[in-house]
Amino acid sequence: MAKDGNAALTGRRRFLQSLAGGSAAAVALSQSWTAHAQGRRAAEPDMDAGKTGFKIKRVTASSLFTRGDFDYGGVKKTMGGGGCYVEIETENGTIGTGMTAIVDTNAVAYIINSAAGRALIGMDALRNEEIWNRLYWMLSPRGQTGLAGHVMSSIDIAVWDIKGKALGVPVATLLGGARARVPVYATFGPANFTIDELVAVATAMKAQGIVNLKMVVGNGAIEARHDAAMDTIIEEDIQRVAAVRKAVGDDVNLMVDGNCGFDLPGAERLVRGIMPYRITFFEEPLAQNDVQLMAELRKRTGITLAAGQNDTLAYQYRDMILAEAVDYIQPNVMMAGGYTQVAKIAGMAQAFNIDITNAGAGALQNMHLHAGLQNGGYCEWHLPWMTFDKIIYRNMPEPVDGFLTIPDVPGLGIVPDQDAIREASKPPRRGGGGSGGD
Ligand SMILES: [Mg+2]
Repeated sequence: MAKDGNAALTGRRRFLQSLAGGSAAAVALSQSWTAHAQGRRAAEPDMDAGKTGFKIKRVTASSLFTRGDFDYGGVKKTMGGGGCYVEIETENGTIGTGMTAIVDTNAVAYIINSAAGRALIGMDALRNEEIWNRLYWMLSPRGQTGLAGHVMSSIDIAVWDIKGKALGVPVATLLGGARARVPVYATFGPANFTIDELVAVATAMKAQGIVNLKMVVGNGAIEARHDAAMDTIIEEDIQRVAAVRKAVGDDVNLMVDGNCGFDLPGAERLVRGIMPYRITFFEEPLAQNDVQLMAELRKRTGITLAAGQNDTLAYQYRDMILAEAVDYIQPNVMMAGGYTQVAKIAGMAQAFNIDITNAGAGALQNMHLHAGLQNGGYCEWHLPWMTFDKIIYRNMPEPVDGFLTIPDVPGLGIVPDQDAIREASKPPRRGGGGSGGD
């Protein structure tokens, strides 16, 4: 631990010098940090990262895109998938890995490689709160949401992987170890599947013991809200939900996901059409996750709502809960600030007796959250996303009888395939918004 302010100034000078040699973006961020450092934190001593041996020496990010084989229930398709993969290496050789998605991953990788990662060199990887705080004030000093959340999330996941490896326990145990396994739901129905394909895949999932299923609704509805196509989309969605319910029977929980694709009148019409088919929850029905409109939809129809997979800051979940807009919140560690912040969001929800559920994919990262915390819930086994994970990682756990068991190994318990990562990071690649989970 530094003894006086001179050591603190030296540490910040090293940090600023590391930034100043980089790109214009890095310089701008360094100026932002300088202004902050000269203000509120000027007298704060730096931590001594050398004591633990987990001083950060490398942070690298890669924007990945893969094409994988989807093959369930006789339905065979090629699926694209993408994410930003992060590695953090410490001086003692420990490597942690992180991931984020559903964003322009090329932009996220650029921010990490040009500025955010360099700001962490020399910090203690075991001090996740200090790392999170530095990134927050560097990337989002006025509380903006957006890319900063993805950068912070992917780095924070890697930091917790290192913490688990340092202490010899799974991340789920570090978070509290509430349970050894988590129930999964399978997201099986992208909008481009025909009704016959939906039925075939849902039936195959049930045969594997997965009795919680989620399908997409509202394909392009928000763009069609001012013309007759809206009614066509809603009517087709009702038929798709009805066909799946008929095929899987009553002993399956069925969820739908609107991907923020409806206005309030359209969402209400759809809800009234699908209510007879016992919908466990309707995820993100409305554009922008509008809190007031979600509360209104819930009040008008009585439908169970869930939302928040791409939200970034804790106040967004607070507002959903206080407005009684949702029954479940869905903070995803890949987007909402990693374990460091999502554990706090989950604690806030617990004070209202509200559970969290996983949405937005990332089962391998989010299963630790839901196993670790008392009010953890379903983990999403997103079939198209898993075609990506199965290319990028080795020795993946698979659901058995509808549950994912946390691997009894330190950290995240997943092994990146470096050859596959190199191949997936080759240009040309798609890094644009929307790649990833539902
Ligand atoms: Mg979703």
